[in-house]
Amino acid sequence: MKNGRRQTADGRLNTDGRRQTAHSGFRSCLPAAAIVAIAFGLGACTSSPPAPAAVSVPKHVVIVTIDTLRADRVGVYGNATVATPNLDRLAREGAMAEHAAVHVPLTRPSHISLFTGLYPAEHGIRDNVSPPLAGKVPVLAEILQQNGFRTGAFVSSIVLSKQSGLDRGFAHYSDRFDVGEDDARFLNTIQKRGDATMGEATTWLGEAGSARRFAWVHLYDPHDPYEPPEPYASRYAGRPYDGEVAWSDELVGRLDAALAAAKLRDDTLLVVTSDHGEGLDEHQEAVHGFFVYETTLAVPLLIRGPGIAPGTRLTPVVRSVDVMPTVLDLLGLAPQTPTVSGRSLAAALHGAPIDDEPTFAESLVPLVHYGWSDLRALRDGRWKYILAPRPELYDLQEDPGERQNLIEREPQRARAYRSGIEQRLRQEQALLRETGPAAASVPADLLEKLGALGYVSSAGPAAARASGADPKDKIEEYQIVNTLMREGLVNLREGRFAVSYKGFQQLFARGIDSFEAHYYAARALVGLKRMREAATHYEAALEKLPAYTAAYVGLAEVYLADGRPNLALDAVRRGLKVSPDDPRLVEREGDVARHTGDPVAAVRAYERVAQLAPKDALVRVKLGELFRDLGRSADAARLLREAVQLDPDTASYWNSLGMILAGNGDLAAGEQAFREAGTRDGTNAQYAYNLGLALARQNKRVEAEAAFRRALEINPRFAAARQQLGALR
Ligand SMILES: [Zn+2]
Repeated sequence: MKNGRRQTADGRLNTDGRRQTAHSGFRSCLPAAAIVAIAFGLGACTSSPPAPAAVSVPKHVVIVTIDTLRADRVGVYGNATVATPNLDRLAREGAMAEHAAVHVPLTRPSHISLFTGLYPAEHGIRDNVSPPLAGKVPVLAEILQQNGFRTGAFVSSIVLSKQSGLDRGFAHYSDRFDVGEDDARFLNTIQKRGDATMGEATTWLGEAGSARRFAWVHLYDPHDPYEPPEPYASRYAGRPYDGEVAWSDELVGRLDAALAAAKLRDDTLLVVTSDHGEGLDEHQEAVHGFFVYETTLAVPLLIRGPGIAPGTRLTPVVRSVDVMPTVLDLLGLAPQTPTVSGRSLAAALHGAPIDDEPTFAESLVPLVHYGWSDLRALRDGRWKYILAPRPELYDLQEDPGERQNLIEREPQRARAYRSGIEQRLRQEQALLRETGPAAASVPADLLEKLGALGYVSSAGPAAARASGADPKDKIEEYQIVNTLMREGLVNLREGRFAVSYKGFQQLFARGIDSFEAHYYAARALVGLKRMREAATHYEAALEKLPAYTAAYVGLAEVYLADGRPNLALDAVRRGLKVSPDDPRLVEREGDVARHTGDPVAAVRAYERVAQLAPKDALVRVKLGELFRDLGRSADAARLLREAVQLDPDTASYWNSLGMILAGNGDLAAGEQAFREAGTRDGTNAQYAYNLGLALARQNKRVEAEAAFRRALEINPRFAAARQQLGALR
């Protein structure tokens, strides 16, 4: 292409000679005819010159993603009020990308772009609530594993659990969040504090062995809610997000110290970046995922390792999709790089100059979840264009805060970028037609956990009646709806049913008629024992999302509790049509049968559940109790023993076991089981009383007396206990 004002096929303008035009196309390695394909990223080459042979190749690689880390909160990115000494040191010892961009401000799709080198439309994951990444899309971990690396991932959010599909290629994938004692708060079961994650990762990294290692450590702490531990809570009082950033920096310091202690530091390529930033109320966006401003698209990218000169600075815009090809190239594995949209930055990291590459970003949340318009952004050097009903154009060099929309002042530039984005969208559509929509669905319980993090499913009715409203005009409504939904769910999980239900009512009053709102409202009403209203909301939820098994389970439960077993059975059968092997549905089938006095059918159902859910303790208790009632006492005892083995912490299971054992005449074993129940719940008079009976029948009079006294201490009006005590004297 020639110098002078000219619009390229990708909508790029060469107007001012600010860049070398010889290399300023989307890709300089392909003929101009290929540019259309390249603009979309498919079929791209990754043929940056490989690192010179003389450059030392790192042995290991560690990638740290600090979730929700806004670039401008890091010292080396110009922040003066948040202490990030460890990140700053990394930038001094290695390289720093001054302008690193992500492609979608959402945790799951953004991480998948990082590890696949593909834009969201290419890898197919557009949302946090999604089926797993398709198995045919190559991921970094798999390539490294195939090349002999020991691979381990340590993630801190359920959004990145194995269900995301990101576990492919990781021999070890730590995504359990319910470990430890602190399960009282619901959120702790779906996210993990960074020190726990980092502790696991450093232990794994330090384990003996000479194999090359690849670790991915994901820290979730700066994601809301912002609750930094001390001393950061006090030090950053009033700005807890900054406190979380400082705390995450400390964790990076711990990692670096552990690498040094394990003598891995000098051989390790260490990459620290993020999946997106945070709005922090700029542009009226509190968190992330709605707009495509730099507050949520600009992240830090720091790379330190053998062959990278200290203090290296990458000044052009670099992208998440560049990370995978860069890592492979730096590790000496460039030929293994699959077809990706990113380019290797290895040469630049070794000091060679590189050109700007345009970067694309998307936010489908306003469209998919609310029926408003989606947003697309194209950044080209200093210029950024946002495709929206009222489009925006910013000069990021002059106006990094994106406050002055230049769309009227720069009509030609705006038109060129617009056509570039539109062309890309057409290619996206073509790709979707080719691959078809994702078939797999999202597990039911996951949906709820994601909801508590502020993520809603894409199953609402919104997309069907898209209004095309500009998200800029809807931000207030979005904030209110999101807050209400989230608070409602947390209140629900923490047992504040009335408050929770009130919140959902406010949503309905605002015209929000979503699947989630109905489903959670029903759950709150169950908590309030308002079963008929709950049934109405479950039905409304199922109307929106007929495949959601948990709603059939809930519906069956409310009908059963309301004394309408026929309707309950009907709900179960509707659910089983959708999901024939769902153990919770089969269990409700058993509940209905038990309720209607058909123990044989109930046994059949529960036995099937026990098979489908080998770790389900409760169904074994139910089945055991049924066997007891049917006089099959040996089977009953066996089932209850299995139950307490699967779940030794539930006192009532031990009590049930004791009842069955003592009822069979095995008083000593019964006594032991009642003791176990009492140890786990010392406030239950019945357990103490049962223990007393088992003791009394073994003629252990002194101990029996103590047990009956204990029962009376707990409940002074326990007449039977008083009577037994009298009989002992
Ligand atoms: Zn995230």
